[in-house]
Amino acid sequence: MKAKNIKYTVSAMAIMSSALITYGQTKSPNIIIILADDLGNKDVGFNGCEDIPTPNIDRIANEGVKFTQGYVTFAVSGPSRAGLMTGRYQDRFGFARTPVFAPSDPEMGLPGSEQTMAEMVKTAEYRTMLSGKWHLGAHAEAHHPNKRGFDEFFGFLAGGHRYFPEDWTIQTEYDAEGNEEHGYRTKLQRNGQVVENETEYLTEALSREAVNFVKDNADQPFFLYLAYNAPHTPLQATDEYLERFKHITDEKRRTYAAMVNAMDDGVGHVLDQLDASGIAENTMVFFLSDNGGPRNANASDNGILRGGKSTWYEGGIRVPFAMRWPKKIQSGQVCNVPVISLDIFSTIVANLGRSATVKNQLDGIDLIPLVTQPERPAPQRTLFWKMHDRDLYVARNGNGAFKILTAPNGNELYNLDEDISEKRNLLKSNENKEVYEALAEELEAWKKEMKEPAFLGLAELKEYWRLQRQKKESGN
Ligand code: CA
Repeated sequence: MKAKNIKYTVSAMAIMSSALITYGQTKSPNIIIILADDLGNKDVGFNGCEDIPTPNIDRIANEGVKFTQGYVTFAVSGPSRAGLMTGRYQDRFGFARTPVFAPSDPEMGLPGSEQTMAEMVKTAEYRTMLSGKWHLGAHAEAHHPNKRGFDEFFGFLAGGHRYFPEDWTIQTEYDAEGNEEHGYRTKLQRNGQVVENETEYLTEALSREAVNFVKDNADQPFFLYLAYNAPHTPLQATDEYLERFKHITDEKRRTYAAMVNAMDDGVGHVLDQLDASGIAENTMVFFLSDNGGPRNANASDNGILRGGKSTWYEGGIRVPFAMRWPKKIQSGQVCNVPVISLDIFSTIVANLGRSATVKNQLDGIDLIPLVTQPERPAPQRTLFWKMHDRDLYVARNGNGAFKILTAPNGNELYNLDEDISEKRNLLKSNENKEVYEALAEELEAWKKEMKEPAFLGLAELKEYWRLQRQKKESGN
C-alpha cells in the first residue's frame, strides 16, 4: 500500500513539473509600446542627443536593438497612430486626416472594420491597458479605448493635452466638443469616469499608471500602450525638471528638454518595475515617436534629416525607434534595414506563442529575424506613404537606398545612402531614372488599394462643423 502511494505521488509530481516546463517554454511575452509625441529624431541619446540625457530610453536600444531607419506611416499624429494600432496602412480604411475632436460623431475616428492591436491580443487572452493619448476618435461607443480592446484606459481622447491639473477645467470630453483647444483642458478619465483628484504633472501621472498596471499584471501576459503626449506642445514642465536644464539658454529648448527628461524618468520607472516583477526577460518593449519633430513648435531637433513634422522628408517620418526583448534579442544590436511602425503589429502576432485571431491583412513584417539573422538578405518590399490632401506620395525601397516623392509641383528622387539630408534631387540631373520609374510603378499599384478619406480633418475644421450644424438642422 505504502509503495503504491509513493509511486502515485511521484508521478503526479512528474506531470506537474512537465506541465510547468511546457508552460515555461511557450510562455507568451508581455508587450509594451512606448510612444512619444513629436519627439525629434536626434532627441534621444541613442541617436546622438547631447543636451538632453535619456538614459532610460537608451536602455531599450542599448539592451536590445536600435533601428537606424525606423519609419512611421504618416508625418502627423492621428493617421500615424491609426497605422500603428492596426498594423495596416491607414489609407486602406480612409484614415487620411487628423481627426476633428468630435465626441458625438461615430464616423470621426477608427472604423469598426479595423481590428486594433489591443483587440487582437485580447483574442489571445491578454490583459490590456492604454495610459495616455488616444486620438483615434472620441465617440463613447464607436471609438473609446475601452470599446476598442483596452481593459484599462487612463488618459484623454483628444490630440493633445495640457500638462498641469490646474488647467483641466473642463469636466468631460462632451463639454469640450466643438473646440479643439478645450479638448486639451478636460479632466483625465479612467475607463470613462472623470478623475477628480489628480494632482500630478501629466507625464508623471501616465507613468505612474503604467507602472501600476505592470505591477498588477505581472503574473499573466499583458499589453501596455504607454502613449505619452510629451513632448508635444504646449511646452510646460515642472520646476524640478526645468532646474536640471537651466544651462540651456534657449527657453523653448530648455522646457522641451525638461519634458523629454520627465518622460525618460517615466520610462525608467516602467523598466524598473519589469525588473522588480522579474519579467523583464520576456517582455517586448518598443519605443518610438509618432512623427518627426516640429522644430519651430517645440524646439525639437531632427539632426541632419531634412524637414520635420508634417513634411514627407526624412525629418517628418523617420523617428527614434528601438526595441528590447532580452529573451530573443541580444543586447547592443543595430539594424540598418528600413522598418516601419506597421511591423510592430506583425512582430507581435508572429511571437505571441499562442494563437490569436487576426481579422485583416497586415502590411508589416516580423522584425525579429531582421535582428537575430542579420546575414539573411533584407526582405524585398517597398514602403509607401500617402498625403491625400496634397496629392503627395512617397515610396522607399526597403532593401535599397532610394526614395521617391511625387506631387503636383514636381517629383523627386533621392539616394538616402549617399544623401541622407535629401539635398540632391537626382531627377534634376536625369540620374537613376529607371529606379524612379520602377518605384513609381509600384506606387501606382499601391495607390489603387487605398481608399478615399472617410472623414474631414483638422484642416477642414470650419467646413466640418458647418456640415454638422446643417445635419442637425435638417434632423439627420
Ligand atoms: Ca505627434
